Amino acid sequence: LSAPLPPQTVSARHLADHPLHPIFARNYSLGDELGSGGFGFVVSARSVVDDKPVAVKFIWKEKVPAHGWVRDPQLGVIPMEAFVLKVVDHPGVVKFIELFDDHQFFYLVMELHGSPWNAQPSKAETLVAQSPRPGPAAMERRSSCDLFECIEQHSRLNEEQARWVFAQVVEAVWHLDRMGICHRDIKDENCVVDADFNVKLIDFGSAVITDVRKPPPYFNRFFGTMTFASSEILQGKPYRAPQAEVWSLGVLLSILISGECPFTDPTAAIKGRISKPKGAWSPDALNLLLGCLEVDPDKRATIGQVRDHPWVRRAWRGRKQPQS
Ligand code: ADP
Ligand code: MG
Ligand code: MG
Repeated sequence: LSAPLPPQTVSARHLADHPLHPIFARNYSLGDELGSGGFGFVVSARSVVDDKPVAVKFIWKEKVPAHGWVRDPQLGVIPMEAFVLKVVDHPGVVKFIELFDDHQFFYLVMELHGSPWNAQPSKAETLVAQSPRPGPAAMERRSSCDLFECIEQHSRLNEEQARWVFAQVVEAVWHLDRMGICHRDIKDENCVVDADFNVKLIDFGSAVITDVRKPPPYFNRFFGTMTFASSEILQGKPYRAPQAEVWSLGVLLSILISGECPFTDPTAAIKGRISKPKGAWSPDALNLLLGCLEVDPDKRATIGQVRDHPWVRRAWRGRKQPQS
């Protein structure tokens, strides 16, 4: 007899009659659903031990692709996204707390970052409910803390807000690049942001780790999001992850400043035909955008050049840049 197939989309509803790992159940009380997708779902929770709010990503084991597994010296074979969070320690990447598993799910317990952008003012209080399971009402609400929701609320950011957000993402990507890690799904939804626009990267489900002593390998399969995919990826060509990552940063920059994607359709993206950008584009910002959205990956700005760009550098004036 074969096990039932996992459903198309998985939400916190699946916890309704799911026996939780006993140690997890003892140590955490579950709150609202923060997000859901094909892989599983993310729920806010509170540690019973120290009262800290956390985010728990329930990853459906059968949905982890064959290449998405890695051996951790302490934890054994685990999903790549849990491994990456565990090995990275950077202010721009959400912190790993612990990992549980049962017959169906991994439970990736991580730092909860950000404020719920679509919540009512009183919502902060009820963000983490006291009940051990999400109640029916909690499962209907979505109180996400990501940059997508944040931009929806603000429609677009002013130049200083955009600069600060972008500089932090660039700093995290630069740090990861030095470790040989590429996120491969950089986008607004995968950045969590608080009320002061402090940003952290989440969702390393498409990430890859490569040997930094060797030239970056070419990949054929793309796991990210079409709107953020580089020209070479959209052309179906083999791509190198660091170059494609910089392109996705260009798309993110446009969304931060204009509130819009820089391309009207995939054909425009393939040709690098940028729509006339809305919003307050200083010549510096425009120069940076063009460097990121250069069609030829060999001529495209590198992550080091993006980090050193004057428009980005200005974000760190009077602030402490993380050491790497
Ligand atoms: P998926 O792989 O399906 O995209 P994500 O890991 O991106 O799942 O999580 C889905 C959503 O849950 C995110 O877009 C964000 O809104 C929310 N989320 C995930 N992790 C956290 C976290 N650590 N802190 C706050 N919100 C989070
Ligand atoms: Mg995501
Ligand atoms: Mg993902």
